[in-house]
Amino acid sequence: MKILINNNDLNEALENVSNLGFVPTMGSLHKGHISLIKQSKKKCNKTIVSIFVNPKQFNNKNDFEKYPRSKKRDLSILKRLKVNYVYLPSVKEIYKVKKFSKVIISKNDKILCAKYRKGHFEGVIDVMERLIENIKPQKIFMGEKDFQQIYLLKKYLRKHSSKIIECKTIRERNKLALSSRNSLLQKREINLAAKLITNIMKLKKKLNMQSNIKKVLNKTANEIDKLQNVKIEYLELRNVKNLKISNKLKNSKIFLSFYINNIRLIDNF
Ligand code: AMP
Repeated sequence: MKILINNNDLNEALENVSNLGFVPTMGSLHKGHISLIKQSKKKCNKTIVSIFVNPKQFNNKNDFEKYPRSKKRDLSILKRLKVNYVYLPSVKEIYKVKKFSKVIISKNDKILCAKYRKGHFEGVIDVMERLIENIKPQKIFMGEKDFQQIYLLKKYLRKHSSKIIECKTIRERNKLALSSRNSLLQKREINLAAKLITNIMKLKKKLNMQSNIKKVLNKTANEIDKLQNVKIEYLELRNVKNLKISNKLKNSKIFLSFYINNIRLIDNF
């Protein structure tokens, strides 16, 4: 496994590589990341994983600072998985090129996380453009857990020849989606988060053509909001093609975001 930290390293290592699979991450690796890496290894000749906690996509300095980091453990996981390359750029390395024009997300797309995390996706799109430009992968493996992220990247990334491959969300047995942020929660908070997710999944199964879905979800959101130390940001059914609010289950998913003790979790199903 080669560790690469700058453009020279990348150019040298990747010069003759064809069908390169890329898994961008912010580290603190878990089974969700591992599933992306395994798919890349299956579908590509070589796999590169980046670990970069991108300050520009955090709308809150405190959130950036407390974001979990575990470089040593991550590297040992990547080595065990026999990943070919790990890209560990510094903030300075990524932002040394200033030429990227500002990303502007349209008003219609300022929904879900784009509504509540100001500047977040602008930061994600910008850093992905930089990573793609540096790495030039054929395929990029990303998780559906961040459905809106994939949706906006497909819409706003400047023309490039990499293909984004969507990978399904990996969950714990209790149905909670794996997330690096889960490590910031206490055991009882994890249990509460899992219970909320399971209940909303059950609720979704009970919804039918007759249901006033918006009303049911609003009522559920209000009930969740009354729980101690829980704050719900959104709970909405949206069409997966255009992310418009939907009142039909077909081609739609429930999207939700909530805080438990100031730790923000998102999911969709
Ligand atoms: P992150 O390190 O949180 O920025 O995530 C890096 C990539 O892993 C993104 O494409 C995420 O969507 C994906 N990912 C995170 N959690 C999961 C999960 N539970 N299942 C599948 N993919 C995930």
